Amino acid sequence: METEIRDRIDIKQGDITLLKVDAIVNAANSSLLGGGGVDGAIHRAAGPDLLAECRKIGGCPTGEARITRGHMLPAKYVIHTVGPIYSGKLEDSKFLASCYRNSLSLAVDYHVRQIAFPAISCGVYGYPVEDACQIATDTCITFLKKDKTIEKIIFVLFSVAHVDVYTRVLKSK
Ligand code: ADP
Repeated sequence: METEIRDRIDIKQGDITLLKVDAIVNAANSSLLGGGGVDGAIHRAAGPDLLAECRKIGGCPTGEARITRGHMLPAKYVIHTVGPIYSGKLEDSKFLASCYRNSLSLAVDYHVRQIAFPAISCGVYGYPVEDACQIATDTCITFLKKDKTIEKIIFVLFSVAHVDVYTRVLKSK
């Protein structure tokens, strides 16, 4: 991978809700009305006004993305995207790639410079992290090659094991 692209990608371990970036991405479910995992953490940290804003949107299909304000979060925006529930079918990878692509397109529309992604679908939705990471990194690298406005994509991983996978996969690109 070119250094110019590699310099625009970071890997961090920790809680995505603490990041003071332009946008954090939420691994939401299609109702957009909150759930467990990172979704629950984002709603708890953002406060009830986030849920009120999400209610007005009225849901989001798998692979698409919607944007809200960050409310009480340090991040300005939350980009809600709905990852696929892992089934082992080819369409999983297409939906997961769409999540990254659509989140990034929305980010560009809102002049977002720094965007943080969790490991979409890698929790309750059961996507094998190695495969998900290949898709996440490939899709983001392809996007960054065409786009000049996003300065930083940060992959925020809750577990140290996931950090190791992302570090190794990114090194191989
Ligand atoms: P999904 O339903 O898309 O699988 P989950 O929230 O269950 O979403 O999990 C997605 C990933 O987010 C998992 O790897 C999980 O460990 C991680 N995660 C959970 N809470 C946080 C958090 N506060 N910050 C960053 N990542 C988180």
